[in-house]
Amino acid sequence: MPECLFCAIVVGQIPATVVGETDRVLAFRDISPQAPTHVLIIPKDHYPDVAALAATGDGLLDEVITQAGRVAAAEGIGERGYRVLFNTGADAGQAVAHVHAHLLGGRALGWPPG
Ligand code: AMP
Ligand code: ZN
Repeated sequence: MPECLFCAIVVGQIPATVVGETDRVLAFRDISPQAPTHVLIIPKDHYPDVAALAATGDGLLDEVITQAGRVAAAEGIGERGYRVLFNTGADAGQAVAHVHAHLLGGRALGWPPG
């Protein structure tokens, strides 16, 4: 069992409700949804945060965002709007140190965030 929770989901050792997948990216529903649509999109390889993911420079961050857009369209929220965000570090409340984009939508989302 990998020590990282999301690496364990990637290899199927922890179950998840998968809503999208490519060779390098996985999208699955958040276990504690904060909106009618709340999906996490991750690279299958482990990177601790979005800056580390961007530093790969090989288009993997683009794939994560592209997948977020595809899931939003599939969920029927592509037109009305949605939010994609990366909590990064302690002050942002990042709880899982495997980079993940939150896709949130299906209701009006408040701004500024808490
Ligand atoms: P963050 O606080 O940005 O690190 O977000 C971590 C997210 O992972 C939270 O929204 C959790 O609800 C979610 N989460 C934790 N465990 C699981 C799991 N086993 N399956 C799906 N989502 C999870
Ligand atoms: Zn990991």
